[in-house]
Formats: sequence, C-alpha cells, structure tokens
Amino acid sequence: MSYFFRDRETAERIAALIGELGAEGLKLMEACGTHTQTISKFGLRHLLPGVRFSSGPGCPTCVTSVRDVDAAIELSRQEGVLLTTFGDMYHVPATGGSLASSGGNVKVVYDIGEAVELARSHPGTEVVHFAIGFETTAPLTAYHLLEGVPENFSIIPAHRYFIDAFNFLLRSGEVEFDGFICPGHVSTITGWAPYLEMVRHVKKPMVVTGFEPNDVLLAVYLIARQLREGRAELEVEYSRCVREDGNVAALEAMEEVFRHGDALWRGLGSIPGSGMALRKEFEGHDALRRFEVEVESGPEIAPGCRCGEILRGNALPSECPLFRRVCTPTNPIGACMVSVEGACNVHLRYGYEG
Ligand code: SF4
Repeated sequence: MSYFFRDRETAERIAALIGELGAEGLKLMEACGTHTQTISKFGLRHLLPGVRFSSGPGCPTCVTSVRDVDAAIELSRQEGVLLTTFGDMYHVPATGGSLASSGGNVKVVYDIGEAVELARSHPGTEVVHFAIGFETTAPLTAYHLLEGVPENFSIIPAHRYFIDAFNFLLRSGEVEFDGFICPGHVSTITGWAPYLEMVRHVKKPMVVTGFEPNDVLLAVYLIARQLREGRAELEVEYSRCVREDGNVAALEAMEEVFRHGDALWRGLGSIPGSGMALRKEFEGHDALRRFEVEVESGPEIAPGCRCGEILRGNALPSECPLFRRVCTPTNPIGACMVSVEGACNVHLRYGYEG
C-alpha cells in the first residue's frame, strides 16, 4: 500500500474534487518555504493549473536582514573568532559579498549543538553562532543557553517570530489572497491558536497544513470548500502534529530566553515585536554586545531584485527581470535565490516559469 500522503491516485482524486468546487482563478499564499518546495517538487502547479500559488515570508534565510549578515561577516574577520552558520546562510549576499566570499573564519554547522561543542573543544577561540530561523529553530538555541554554554560561546541573535510577521503582513493590506496555507513546522511549536485572531481579521480561509503533496492538496480542497460555502475559518489539516497550544515545553524555553523586540526583515522592513532579543540574563552571550561590531550596510534589496514583492506574494520569481538571466544559485543577487526554500531557487530548480 502506498503512503497516503504521497499516493498518486489519492492526489488525482483530491484534485478532481477541487476542480468540482470550481477552483479556477484561485489565488493562494503558501506562507512557508517548505510548502513552496512541495508544490513545485511534486508538480502540484501542473495538477492544479488554475490555482496561482504564491510564496510568503516563510523562508528564514530569505528574510534575514543584510545588516545581520554584514555583522556576521564583520565578526568572522575578527582575530580569534570562529563564526558558525547554517549552510544556506553561507552564500547569502550582503553589502560587500557573502560569508563564503568574505575571507573570514567561517564554519558551516548542522545545528547550534555542533557550534557549542566547537566552543568546548576550542577554549582559546571565541565561537560565534549566527542564530537565525523562526519558532522552529529558536527553541534549540534557547535550550542550549538554558543548559549552559561555555564562556567562549555567543550568538548573533537573529531569530524571528514568524507568527508576528505573518500577522503584521495580513494586517498591512499589502497581501490579497483567496486563502492562506499556513505552515506546519512553525505551527507545531506555536499551536494553531495564534491564527484565530488572524482569520477573524482577514476574513479568508486559513488552513494549517503538513508538507506532503496530499497535505497541500487537502489544504487547497478545504479552502475551496470554505469559499464555496461562504465561510472564512481556520481549519487544521495537519492535526497529526499541530495542537491548539503547540509545544508547551518549547514555547516556555523560548519565553525564558527571548523577549519580543522590533526587527528588520529583508524585503519587508522593520516589523514591531517580531525579533527574538535575548533577555537580560542571557545578554552576556550576545555577540553584538560582546564584540565591537561596526558595519555600514547597503540597501536590504539589491537594485532590480524583486524579493520584497515575492516575500509578500505579490510577484512570482519569473516576473523578476534578473531571474535565471543574471540571478542564479551560483550567482545569487537576492536571498530568495540562495536557500532551497527560497521561492526563486525553487522555481529555477523545478523549472516553473508561470
Ligand atoms: S530572481 Fe534573484 S534578483 Fe530576482 S527576485 Fe529572485 S533573488 Fe531577487
């Protein structure tokens, strides 16, 4: 028996049901980069040619500000410092290049635990971890800081609250969609409760969804059914992982270590309360306080790059004049071309030009 969530016959049946509901012309935002991958990788655009899927702000690498990357580059060049980062961040362009081209002392790690171990095994080196990501990766950072890290370990606190940014975008009036496919990973941590207020505000269907192709198809079906029935509610397709109150232990750890602060998002600007700043007790491990870091950052978006519109779902990568011609994964002009979750990277790899 094939796995239900990837079963082709099931996919075709759901697509047929969506067709019966009259989904032609449906405009949806998938707010998570992993959904963008699923939609392209499994050919859902071809299965549902009448549906326009647009990416949202849910790719952590894409939204990490130029200023933070510049700070990471500057720190990696300081005497006695080893800067650790996730693979995707390594090639993200900033003002004067990327971590890959900076000539600094940089090591790619799989997770923050590896960076902490490096600090333990190299007591004479200042290990600075570039801590990026949403509610999905921040709990692990919080866990390590609560457990206790070596004195020669610090972080660039660049984690962001996805929920606050999504809420901000929905209220900005800058995004107009028939429905929203809400992230699975983030919601596993936050729970589905935070979306209730959003759905009341936008008055459009919202569905919290898993990452397999049939999860996404079911989400489209649920949205189309709500629209047909004149409803605008929150539904949880990913109930096998997402509870109302989320992962309480992870949320408590984050709450103990981080506080909400205003934060700059690449392409989206400053979003109130969306940054995870370290609480006073943990400020000693804030690399931006420990070291002198002076950067003069250029614009958050390179000339001609349309990442800002793409992250709002207001443009497709193929609508950027630089897409494929100038901007490619080996020569990224904007951050959306770097990460495997970035819309431009996904569209290029899977050949979507729609
Ligand atoms: S194709 Fe490149 S330049 Fe254009 S929006 Fe995407 S990342 Fe920016």
